[in-house]
Amino acid sequence: MKKGLVWIRRDLRLHDHAALSAATKECDEVSLVFVFDKKILEKLEPEDRRVSFIYEALLEIEEKVGVHTLVGDPIKLIPELFKKLKIDHLYFNRDYEPYALKRDNKVIREIGNVSTYKDSVFFEPHEVLKGDGSPYTVFTPYKRRWLEAFLNQGKNISDYKVNLNKIKKGNSKLKLELFKKMGFQKTQNTLVGGTSKGKKLLSSFGKKIANYDKTRDFPAMEGTSNLSVYIRFGCISIRDMIRLSLKNKSSGHDIWLSELIWREFYQMILGQFPHVVKKEFKPKYEGIPWSGTTKEFNAWKEGRTGFPIVDAAMRCLNETGMMPNRLRMVVASFLCKTLLVDWKKGEKYFASKLLDFDLAANNGGWQWSSSTGCDAQPYFRIFNPYSQSQKFDGEGEFIKKWCPELSSLNSKKIHQPDLADMIELAEAGCTLGKDYPFPIVSYTKSRQKALKMYKKALS
Ligand SMILES: Cc1cc2nc3c(=O)[nH]c(=O)nc-3n(C[C@H](O)[C@H](O)[C@H](O)COP(=O)(O)OP(=O)(O)OC[C@H]3O[C@@H](n4cnc5c(N)ncnc54)[C@H](O)[C@@H]3O)c2cc1C
Repeated sequence: MKKGLVWIRRDLRLHDHAALSAATKECDEVSLVFVFDKKILEKLEPEDRRVSFIYEALLEIEEKVGVHTLVGDPIKLIPELFKKLKIDHLYFNRDYEPYALKRDNKVIREIGNVSTYKDSVFFEPHEVLKGDGSPYTVFTPYKRRWLEAFLNQGKNISDYKVNLNKIKKGNSKLKLELFKKMGFQKTQNTLVGGTSKGKKLLSSFGKKIANYDKTRDFPAMEGTSNLSVYIRFGCISIRDMIRLSLKNKSSGHDIWLSELIWREFYQMILGQFPHVVKKEFKPKYEGIPWSGTTKEFNAWKEGRTGFPIVDAAMRCLNETGMMPNRLRMVVASFLCKTLLVDWKKGEKYFASKLLDFDLAANNGGWQWSSSTGCDAQPYFRIFNPYSQSQKFDGEGEFIKKWCPELSSLNSKKIHQPDLADMIELAEAGCTLGKDYPFPIVSYTKSRQKALKMYKKALS
């Protein structure tokens, strides 16, 4: 009897799963294992939302089949379990992050009988390259080549069927005590972990995807899918998402598929240029003399900069672990180009808070916003937080939700309360400097400083 072990990591689901599909085809009996990696846990705060999300996703899997849930070092634990259960072959889906690659190679060396699979992306970092075999560094030609490759294989989207009957059942062992053992607290997230919630969101987004291109930038309209955390932890598959984007034809469908290709673009950049984890993609941007202070950085983190759209977005992040894409761009640009704080600090803060944190997408988003990345916006393009706010949150609905102290200001002044006169502020019951901060810097002056700072670094 051939026994297989499937090590699940960022693929917490039981359907359309490359490694599980292969294991249940090739083996008579398959066990599942997930390891809460101590090296990752050590860096997190006790109320980290992602630990709860993973726990919920595992619980859902456990309702159907057994999962060995372990806490510690996978490099030790996986080979130990492999021996203990007398397994013949280990299966897992590939992960392209530098830490994961090192870890996985060690496990492969230790065990030997291992098969790995492409699963979390449609094309792996080495699969979409220029004619001369070098990687793309600009999105549009990458996307063109990606689509060409997709058409060349006949738009064929595999569905990796899983034979659940081959997976060993087990008495449910996951208990809330696990949180205590790991030193974490269970959080209540609005986005609950698991495939059923992921599929529900996918299906409800299917009803509005045609308008995605028109609504996605307006935070109060909630025109995006909210699926990032479900794809990050693999509660749904990338193929589930691509299938939806092809279900009908509209500019909404097309633009959404483009976003999925952006995701693969950044995975490719991370895979091909791993130096981006620590440094600017473009070396000439390495020496920027960031002059922002710790006080300014803290005000940004806590949502008390005196710029309502920035504060609303940061409070939303702190409270929910999520932030709409348009606002991620606004607050990232604000941190590096208005407060003049090193983008790497912002990247690290996002990494600590985002429920959907993904090294490739986060690093790509920050390097784009700070103009240090490949195909980034030019350094002299600086988002004006006031006009972004007027354009994308015209009535101030998003601001009102997260900065209730401003909610009685009219839709003109809510974007810049320091322009309101004494009477307007008194009528709104808001005292600047007490209920809501004065702007921590002058946007116009900072803009000039930012331009000088970038120019100096580049000269
Ligand atoms: C500074 C900054 C940091 C970011 N950090 C992350 C991160 O850690 N994790 C993350 O998943 N996304 C990140 N993004 C990209 C984007 O903001 C989120 O993917 C998106 O807001 C998630 O919401 P959604 O699922 O409703 O997206 P939708 O608009 O519905 O898009 C569908 C999917 O496409 C992918 N996607 C969309 N936009 C991007 C993009 N610009 N880059 C890469 N993938 C994209 C995501 O998987 C997303 O779920 C970041 C963007 C910026 C500017």
